[in-house]
Amino acid sequence: MSSHYLQALDRQHLIHPVTNFHGHEKRGATILASGKGSWLRDNDGNELLDAFSGLWCVNTGYGVESIVRAATEQMQRLPYATGYFSFGSEPAIRLAARLVELAPASLERVYFTQGGSDAVDAAIRYIAYYYNALGKPSKKHFIALERGYHGSSSTGAGLTGLPVFHRNFDLPKENQHHIASPYPYRNPAGQDDTAIIAASVQALRDKVAELGADNVAAFFCEPIQGSGGVIVPPVGWLKAMREACRSLDILFAVDEVITGFGRTGPMFACEAEQVDPDLMTVAKGLTAGYSPMGALLMSEAIYQAIADAAGPDLAVGHGQTYSAHPVSAAVGLEVLRLYTEGGLLANGVAQTPHFTRGLQELLSHPLVGDARSRGLVGALELVADKDSKRRFDPALRLPDRISEAAYRNGLVFRAFGDSILGFAPALCYTADEFGLLFERLKATLDQVLEQPEVR
Ligand code: PMP
Repeated sequence: MSSHYLQALDRQHLIHPVTNFHGHEKRGATILASGKGSWLRDNDGNELLDAFSGLWCVNTGYGVESIVRAATEQMQRLPYATGYFSFGSEPAIRLAARLVELAPASLERVYFTQGGSDAVDAAIRYIAYYYNALGKPSKKHFIALERGYHGSSSTGAGLTGLPVFHRNFDLPKENQHHIASPYPYRNPAGQDDTAIIAASVQALRDKVAELGADNVAAFFCEPIQGSGGVIVPPVGWLKAMREACRSLDILFAVDEVITGFGRTGPMFACEAEQVDPDLMTVAKGLTAGYSPMGALLMSEAIYQAIADAAGPDLAVGHGQTYSAHPVSAAVGLEVLRLYTEGGLLANGVAQTPHFTRGLQELLSHPLVGDARSRGLVGALELVADKDSKRRFDPALRLPDRISEAAYRNGLVFRAFGDSILGFAPALCYTADEFGLLFERLKATLDQVLEQPEVR
């Protein structure tokens, strides 16, 4: 179908996620048609290098035959099996066991969801159940980070620390609180790692003291804040927050929806700092976007407390029709095999220096104030003045302008707010593709710099 016709239909009927409705009606949909490896093709035949893995999820690249085969075979054999009433399917059971094998040692039990938002939502519900089970019903307050993202379920969006997810949605709830994020480039007290970590720990302690430890359930965080603008805390931050939670007697819930499955190098970001969370949410790279699936992993202690409280007969009333969907599970098993035996994680690690260097070299560009990354997730922060770190006027829509120009140059990445460009290339990227990414990116930044409004 012609793009023109599809765009007309889209304007009339399709509501897009996290999109300005009227802006979208004016702009129209960008319609993608196919993909292979790190490349996308749009409906008009333009070839695009994808530097964002879809939405930080297609870690394997597009068009991987073995994943398509795994899905097809499972669809032919058994397209659906419920998890209710103790039913199950082989791929779901095997995927749960494989996840536990790969995840931090503290995590033993897996609840499957359709994505990240409902994994966070499941965590919130099970945590409430857990504290009621323990006879500590007052422990119901949650703490998360400003600029954090934990999806957009009706309660999870309140843990998200981004104003557009709260505005007009009556969030955050009165039991949801946020502390400052560890944002090295804009840390008012400077960029000293130890000071940044100490400030975060202190902020958490202060917030728990203010609410009363008997009232606080958990602290939620991403190891690297993704949707908040790829904010990379110092190495050691995650471990320090984990230890702080232990000493404060609150649960530590880590959201690895973006950072999981090799995005930062190891299988999970927790691994790099030997962090053992009480709960962990994953999605995206679990199925590399080929089929929707997320998961909540929890410790044996949480699982057992819930099981004991329910007793011998009562169902634990949390569930979805598509929990542990067998087709998604079959996809997940094959995707995990590709990361490990298929060598994708190793390729990601081997290629990371090309990514890091490419971003760092752009620090000399007049528009770029900060370049940051860990593994294959990174960002450039744009500033109007490098010394004062002054941002450009939001009315200029500089990141959008740059990503629109990049698209015309055959490159796709993500614009955040008024100052950040985010990158998350697939783990299958080659050295040549990194060369092309930075060639096209630099050319785009140069072109935008020439625009009279920007100059
Ligand atoms: N948590 C994090 C850290 C995420 O990045 C996302 C998605 N960007 C979510 C949760 C929500 O996942 P989903 O969009 O699959 O619901």
